[in-house]
Amino acid sequence: MNERDIIQYITNLAPNRGEGVVQGIGDDCAVIGKDGNSVWLLTMDTLVEKVHFDRKWHPPELLGRKSISVNVSDVAAMGGKPLFVLLSVGLPQSFDKEWFSAFSEGIAQGCRDYGCILIGGDTVCSPGGYSFTVTVIGEIEKEHVLYRSNASPGDEIWVSGWLGHAAAGLEIFSRGIDIGGQQFQPLLNAHLNPEARTQLGLELGRCGVVSSMMDLSDGLATDLAHLCKRSKVKGEIFADRLPLSAPLSRAADILDLSPAMLAVNGGEDYELLFTAPPDAAVTVEQIGQACVLDLYRVGRIRQGSGVVLLTADEQNNVREQKIAYGGFDHFGSDIT
Ligand SMILES: [Mg+2]
Repeated sequence: MNERDIIQYITNLAPNRGEGVVQGIGDDCAVIGKDGNSVWLLTMDTLVEKVHFDRKWHPPELLGRKSISVNVSDVAAMGGKPLFVLLSVGLPQSFDKEWFSAFSEGIAQGCRDYGCILIGGDTVCSPGGYSFTVTVIGEIEKEHVLYRSNASPGDEIWVSGWLGHAAAGLEIFSRGIDIGGQQFQPLLNAHLNPEARTQLGLELGRCGVVSSMMDLSDGLATDLAHLCKRSKVKGEIFADRLPLSAPLSRAADILDLSPAMLAVNGGEDYELLFTAPPDAAVTVEQIGQACVLDLYRVGRIRQGSGVVLLTADEQNNVREQKIAYGGFDHFGSDIT
């Protein structure tokens, strides 16, 4: 059973539709009716020690902020404004008080940075190390919600910011190598302290020209596959349009990894992935400039299914490589 099978199994058993539920399982957030004009957005993510973070290299205050950011990112991914936070804390019997106090500072900082109020949660003793579950509740006008399910053939595929940074940062930390220098700081930061694209998400939701959106948590290959599946379309990524930064290319060289594969399969970038028709490009570019973020057109939506990476060789022959669901899966040896 992989992650998708597990979600499907539970969904089949539990009541999952009903009054007030505008969108249940299957998008970045659940969407619940609030009043005539607006809806609530609800999302939850868990960070588990040794799975999502390692206390050897992750400063606790940055981990606290990250646990807020990764949830806020899901609200941004629907075009919404984050408002409230619930936090459940799992700590070992004899936990490190100093570490936890710095972690709590990070939670507080994240709440301040994104304009959220901490409204409740839970605290439990954990026999298996530290774990943190955060729920973020946001809101948005009903007509501005951006779902994964509305991409159409002909739309262009966009991403905000560099891809693969967080995966490269994690790789550097987990191999325990010192590749030195300030030049790799953006990669390390992307893993330690990602920034949720809240302003960009809001603007893209309001502009009325974006057809679908989600955030990049599991890698472009996997996340675009989710979006394409929900929209019943095929996604094509042009390898030569992938936004690969100079630090990523240099680090990939040292790590003996392909920068393109880090960008396509690497998780936790928390950039936004969205689609819009070609005539929306000027509007999208303007929003990027207003948010001081570079936005990249990396592909297009076609009729069909799955996700492919298109690479042209020197003779301009285009090779099509299937990449759907190539990213991280918690139970994933059977992912193809
Ligand atoms: Mg998401």
